[in-house]
Amino acid sequence: LEPSYQFMIRVRAPGGVATPEQWLTMDRLANDHANGTLKLTTRQAFQFHGVLKWNLKETMRGINRSLLDTIAACGDVNRNVMCNPNPHQSDIHSEVFQYAKNVSEHLLPRTSAYHEIWLDKEKIADSRDEDEVEPIYGSYYLPRKFKIGIAVPPSNDIDVFSQDLGFIAIVEDGKLQGFNVAVGGGMGMTHGDTNTYPQVARVIGFCPADKIEEVAEKVVSIQRDYGNRSNRKNARFKYTIDARGVDWIMHELNNRLGWELEQERPYHFESNGDRYGWVKGNNGRWHYTLFILSGRIMDTEDYPLMTALREIAKIHTGDFRLTPNQNLVIANVTSHKKKQINEVMEKYGLAEGKHHSGLRRNAMSCVAFPTCGLAMAESERYLPSLLDHMEGILDEAGINDEEIVLRITGCPNGCARPALAEIAFIGKAPGKYNMYLGGSFTGDRLNQLYRENIGEAEILETLRPIILAYAREREEHEHFGDYVIRKGYVDEIRSGLDFHKN
Ligand code: SF4
Repeated sequence: LEPSYQFMIRVRAPGGVATPEQWLTMDRLANDHANGTLKLTTRQAFQFHGVLKWNLKETMRGINRSLLDTIAACGDVNRNVMCNPNPHQSDIHSEVFQYAKNVSEHLLPRTSAYHEIWLDKEKIADSRDEDEVEPIYGSYYLPRKFKIGIAVPPSNDIDVFSQDLGFIAIVEDGKLQGFNVAVGGGMGMTHGDTNTYPQVARVIGFCPADKIEEVAEKVVSIQRDYGNRSNRKNARFKYTIDARGVDWIMHELNNRLGWELEQERPYHFESNGDRYGWVKGNNGRWHYTLFILSGRIMDTEDYPLMTALREIAKIHTGDFRLTPNQNLVIANVTSHKKKQINEVMEKYGLAEGKHHSGLRRNAMSCVAFPTCGLAMAESERYLPSLLDHMEGILDEAGINDEEIVLRITGCPNGCARPALAEIAFIGKAPGKYNMYLGGSFTGDRLNQLYRENIGEAEILETLRPIILAYAREREEHEHFGDYVIRKGYVDEIRSGLDFHKN
């Protein structure tokens, strides 16, 4: 076989919203042209794995016919714009979702190459005329990928501090007033290279809601003009800012806008995870958040999840929302449909997720082996057994229901945002991981390396006494990440510039 005979396709879905018809199309394409599974990603997108080369075009056309696409789901441009699925405040969600869509559309590359290659459209793009074709990206696009997300407090489920550009919705008197603007977050690094590090975004001000596209465009233009184009490892926006300082970016942005960002407004986050089960939104509709381990939609003998969701999509009249934690919200359900959907969930055993341990409910993994070419160690395939072992320790400690954020990735690119987790594992080699402790439950603090290059036995040996001590000694409402800092296992890391300090 030639080397590139099978592919991953990532589908852009701003804010992770899909209609039941789009869900059915994704399901059909996964079964007809991919490996019979769907992956819900940590950026609220669909992924198909194992698409054979000769099935690529038909799959892309199918995606396009469903009014979704793969434009800018990869590459050195702005990626899928994330948005809080927020089932509690339905009207704020629809407003914020619309802004996420607008920002996504506004920052799409204008090239017609996608349509020419995949949809057999007439050739329009002319390489001699690129500036006209790409008013925002210019001739050379961005130095690296660019990520944007919009959070709606008190939920930080999109991990706003991990984004190159994050917006925090400010809701006052029940109305969306605008957004705090946070810049320069990012998770990726390279093992052994201390010039690379994860970073948390810093809040630099507030903009009125109707200015969000303008702010996004100007921030992207700064990275286009100042990003490092000579060293790809230091090309993300966080390095551009860290090299020049936060005052510089504020000044540069205000200059480009021609007006000044206002003072940031108060906000409060409670967690960066999902809350499961049914909630009633303030539009009177119901929303069910379904736990999906690692976002993998597939049928197994014990758990026919893909079939069940297909059955739900056939009767559902609301929408689906992919959460940033790889779960799924069956959203905007009428009371009548709720009864029918409950029956399907009952039939296929879907409602049992709420009985999982607090650790499992807050666990996330990237894909890694066998489909990610960058993986150094297992991630998605290893997470279930790692959780089983760790749940044994939690049972022993009597804190099975305690919510602890755990994330694992197969390499330091950080697709599951591990640097923000209370406990994280980043792959180094097959069966070996760096273990990090001390992220916060709300996703606003980085963790720190605690043990390097360890296998499962050492992971469990190391964690067991810490978890047992946590169960005995924690203060009221104290989260695991805060406890390990208070007890001096690791330092409190508030800036990526301190990430490698010991
Ligand atoms: Fe692949 Fe690394 Fe991303 Fe995991 S973190 S999906 S191994 S690139």
